[in-house]
Amino acid sequence: MVLTEAEIEAELDRLMEAPEVDEEQVKDLEKRMIEFTKTNREIEDGYGSGSGHPSQLQRVYLVLPDPNSQNSTKLKTQTRRRTRKSPAMDSVYKTDENFAADVAALLAPLPTPQLQEYFNKLITSRRCNGIEVKNNGTIGKGVYANSEFDEDELILKDEILVGIQHSSNKVDCLVCSFCFRFIGSIEKQIGRKLYFKNLGVSGCCDDDSSEEDECVKYNGNEEQCGGSSSSHNTLPEGVVSSLMNGEMALPHTDKFPLPSPLSCPGGCQEAFYCSESCAEADWESSHSLLCTGERSESISREALGEFIKHANDTNDIFLLAAKAIAFTILRYRKLKAEHVDKKAKQSEPKQSLLLEAWKPVSIGYKRRWWDCIALPDDVDPTDEGAFRMQIKNLACTSLELLKIAIFDKECEALFSLEIYGNIIGMFELNNLDLVVASPVEDYFLYIDDLPDAEKEETEEITRPFLDALGDEYSDCCQGTAFFPLQSCMNHSCCPNAKAFKREEDRDGQAVIIALRRISKNEEVTISYIDEELPYKERQALLADYGFSCKCSKCLEDSSSI
Ligand SMILES: [Zn+2]
Ligand SMILES: [Zn+2]
Ligand SMILES: [Zn+2]
Repeated sequence: MVLTEAEIEAELDRLMEAPEVDEEQVKDLEKRMIEFTKTNREIEDGYGSGSGHPSQLQRVYLVLPDPNSQNSTKLKTQTRRRTRKSPAMDSVYKTDENFAADVAALLAPLPTPQLQEYFNKLITSRRCNGIEVKNNGTIGKGVYANSEFDEDELILKDEILVGIQHSSNKVDCLVCSFCFRFIGSIEKQIGRKLYFKNLGVSGCCDDDSSEEDECVKYNGNEEQCGGSSSSHNTLPEGVVSSLMNGEMALPHTDKFPLPSPLSCPGGCQEAFYCSESCAEADWESSHSLLCTGERSESISREALGEFIKHANDTNDIFLLAAKAIAFTILRYRKLKAEHVDKKAKQSEPKQSLLLEAWKPVSIGYKRRWWDCIALPDDVDPTDEGAFRMQIKNLACTSLELLKIAIFDKECEALFSLEIYGNIIGMFELNNLDLVVASPVEDYFLYIDDLPDAEKEETEEITRPFLDALGDEYSDCCQGTAFFPLQSCMNHSCCPNAKAFKREEDRDGQAVIIALRRISKNEEVTISYIDEELPYKERQALLADYGFSCKCSKCLEDSSSI
């Protein structure tokens, strides 16, 4: 019997509710689900467009609700338990059913002329007129040089559409919540980090596997990880707090001035800004809906708090997806208000305003998260169906909470699981890591470069702080963001450009520099991976991005095998 994807899911639900679970039948249905996923992937691979950038960080931060997920039986049991839908889950699925046509319209690819117009406007606003985005039938979108570029010349500075600092990075760096510039002072950055470290919540003590290596190294140095009073590297609490509140000044920090932090105008004490303009821009872009402060425009601050906690406990990419949804809702309301202002004779249908509001986000998505996420090494391939179902349920739980927190009746289609899955998938495949270098590192390097006598004198004061900070004194700001133009750049293993932060690039913007001379009409390419790796390893890594590379280097390498 041929079943649709939805029918298989319904059948699985029915089986799960039965008093005696029929293991055989469940296995068979799960296998069919995998087939569906595979077919989806193949279909979508057929017209892969633009670039894909599965985020390594994102994978590391994905924490499955079951701590014993290596144990396949446990994984399955939990998946089955979770497959039973709660009433709230039903409400999410109902949105998908009732708004199927609207959802399909939102997910339909933008017609080429509209796409072209959107990118032309974007390029003008970014003042990077040396490039253009072209839709090339076979490989999809790409960025092309409109003029010549010399080696090391700046090609593009791309602003963030939506971005987040990773939750675990927040204890290490205090940055502007909108532009991701470091704020406060060198003293505040150091004091804050030592304070959290003393509390035992520094990134070093996270159970994130990305930090594991550093933690091992750190322990290997026989230093205490965290705030044990027996550690000779822990500074007294009084010293740390006077650093944080500005009572203590370190030598030479006046050479590294940082903007004073402004609190969020909504009163949340969670978002801080480098300037009034950043605070205002963030409020208008998405924060007015996602602020947990008293002036928040969310419907339920309690649900919002729960949503944020769930994201921090599982995968902080949900926070980024929420920003994309809040961004679209606020843009919709603005477009609607402008429309009313113009007193247009024919009222623009609601749906077309929502499509217009959604356009900036729509250029990025390609696949649903649970279809495109790479199977983690510790999940047995035979459990793939169960794993993907578990991921889908995780997204569903997150969406339920978000829906209670910021629901908007006129934008209901945005709260469908299909849209949510596509937004998260877009960050899985299209994001580029957001990295901003730390001024604290520059500060200690500056001291290291001082003339000998002065250096010795200064280090007497600064050495205890450097020791207390340990290996992570130079942690940079890390996050995930969507850069509309950079995400259109295709991959090559012999790229002619790269993402590179220069000395003056101190915020979250993406900076693309020419690696060699680029002539007019040549495609601008970057490498998504370490292009020095051998052919087979490169192809394996790129398969995670959903394509097989046919650049000149790969063609040459494959013919010599
Ligand atoms: Zn800022
Ligand atoms: Zn706020
Ligand atoms: Zn290649």
